[in-house]
Amino acid sequence: MNAVIPIKMAMGGCTDAPVLRERGQREVFCGLTGIIWLHRKIQDAFFLVVGSRTCAHLIQSAAGVMIFAEPRFATAIIDERDLAGLADCNEELDRVVTRLLARRPEIKLLFLVGSCPSEVIKLDLSRAAQRLSSQFMPNVRVLNYSGSGIETTFTQGEDACLASLVPSLPPAKADAAPALMVVGTLADVVEDQFTRLFSAMGLGPVAFFPPRHADRLPSVGPNTRYLLAQPFLADTAVALEARGAQRLSAPFPLGVEGTTAWLQAAATAMGVAPDRFEQVTAPARERAQSALVRQRIQLAGKQIFFFPDSQLEIPLARFLSRELGMLLTEVGTPYLHKQHLAPELALLPAGTVLSEGQHVENQLDRCRAAQPDIVVCGLGLANPLEAEGFTTKWAIELVFTPIQGYEQAADLAELFSRPLLRRQKINPKPAPLAISSTLAASVAGA
Ligand code: SF4
Repeated sequence: MNAVIPIKMAMGGCTDAPVLRERGQREVFCGLTGIIWLHRKIQDAFFLVVGSRTCAHLIQSAAGVMIFAEPRFATAIIDERDLAGLADCNEELDRVVTRLLARRPEIKLLFLVGSCPSEVIKLDLSRAAQRLSSQFMPNVRVLNYSGSGIETTFTQGEDACLASLVPSLPPAKADAAPALMVVGTLADVVEDQFTRLFSAMGLGPVAFFPPRHADRLPSVGPNTRYLLAQPFLADTAVALEARGAQRLSAPFPLGVEGTTAWLQAAATAMGVAPDRFEQVTAPARERAQSALVRQRIQLAGKQIFFFPDSQLEIPLARFLSRELGMLLTEVGTPYLHKQHLAPELALLPAGTVLSEGQHVENQLDRCRAAQPDIVVCGLGLANPLEAEGFTTKWAIELVFTPIQGYEQAADLAELFSRPLLRRQKINPKPAPLAISSTLAASVAGA
């Protein structure tokens, strides 16, 4: 059942817009998918999924092209004997972990990652992690989180992972000066660009969480001012705030405008003079703005529809509408975190149709009725929609690709212009499909 519930907030823009809340069948990856980018970021961490052959297939096919000789993820398969209660899963898990750590001494941080099967049989991975951690510390810290599809959509896997890591962060000294922490996985190239900008402003050292190595966990305390680099880190934010850290409210660093506002939030909180901020950011900002001009020609006036998937949808919609002139037909997001997204919502054009959660059939109906030029959706929906004549963009690609910051603004825009150009070359957009009377009624009632 759908319900239109107005969200009231203090700011302008789209903050007062009604949000269509939907519950129904979902078409999203589970939180295990986050392992693909997390294992590349934390270079001495290992992710052991405790799951089924389905989980193993998902991880292997999603990470297929990235597997090197020694991948840092694997699946401990729960088989029929475990499910039937004929084997002691904890004993088997201890055996698998002991063998793994003996063979891979470079591993310093091991995550036991829960899945649907481990949750169904109620395998207590937090106790297993404590038991194994006391056995293998100080060489290896063992933590656990859930990537189960029962509980998480795909970017929530990162949130669960980082939240599990927060209690391990060392405490900052009580009298420590205010320090900045950037929270959320960024590609190394993006992290390096931001580090250079922060140090040119005289801000530093700035900590990035997660770090590239497990022994470089940043300290946290009431002196910590943290800036979210990703919009899907609700639990991590709660865990950091429980340690005294204070969040700096800002749009997310997508596009020129988002990146400037994000950097500005840090600069203001840390007392950087306005002229210094201007001096440091102006060259990169101007370069990015001129790189966007060509993309704007391709994208202005094109209609875009977002299915809920990565939780990046609202910042992306803001960038595409304000900097590239795209028209937003619907912006769906799996979860709408009102506080974290408030600066983004304030920047969306008034009247933007927002939806939270998913009822995939209803959304498909609305998408077909709207006939957008491009649809952002999960892999499961992309092929059927392409077959119907729609141009699609896989949401997951936006998480795998470096898209944050000035230098990536035009690349991010190109991720949307390229499929439109390809479609134009292959065949022009077909005439709108006939809408059935039931569908038309449902659209009218939505
Ligand atoms: S965790 Fe659940 S949804 Fe994800 S691959 Fe395993 S069984 Fe499928």
